Amino acid sequence: MELDLELQRRLIRTVAERVIAHTDELVALDRAIGDGDHGLNMKRGFEAVLADLDKFAAMPLGEALKGVGMALVMKVGGASGPLYGSLFMALGKALPEQAGRAGLAQAFAAAVEAVKARGKSDVGQKTMIDVLVPALAVLQDTAVDLPERLCSAAQQAATATIPVRALRGRASFLGERSVGHMDPGARSASLMICAVMDVMEGRA
Ligand code: ADP
Ligand code: MG
Repeated sequence: MELDLELQRRLIRTVAERVIAHTDELVALDRAIGDGDHGLNMKRGFEAVLADLDKFAAMPLGEALKGVGMALVMKVGGASGPLYGSLFMALGKALPEQAGRAGLAQAFAAAVEAVKARGKSDVGQKTMIDVLVPALAVLQDTAVDLPERLCSAAQQAATATIPVRALRGRASFLGERSVGHMDPGARSASLMICAVMDVMEGRA
């Protein structure tokens, strides 16, 4: 996919700033069913991305995504670092140079597979996968108007993790007590997806 470099810079910057702006919320969500570090983990990772924004903004998009993924693996830590790292690296690897929506959907499918493989996880386990998979379904459904649906679908999917019992990650140690809280990784995934859509629609 070829973007003009200004748009590419805005995309990377907006995603990073959006996640950083929600640090406290992500910390609070992770405090309820984890160890409370998700917001700080993500903030550290995306601050590293912002520090290299000039570099990432000048690269072909696929290379930039791979670079962002590597930065996240190195800086985020926890369970989510390698998982989001895999997502971005696989997306960068699979993205064709000239991709329309179909190419993007294919690349995103490969990226979601990479996260599933890394986490040995699937939908319904109260993780970021519970947002990534419905987002992929929206991308793949060509009858759906993307800008209108993708962000709201991601937000709904994050909310839908509240009544689920966690079966992966730290929250799974809580068993039944993980019920009644939104999964922090599902929330951070929805934040990133909405940030991308805001940029694509010219809202950010
Ligand atoms: P840690 O759990 O090591 O403290 P974080 O708090 O940064 O790491 O990230 C927690 C999030 O990672 C969870 O909310 C969940 O969405 C995601 N996660 C954890 N384990 C898995 C897994 N096996 N597959 C997919 N996502 C996972
Ligand atoms: Mg944590």
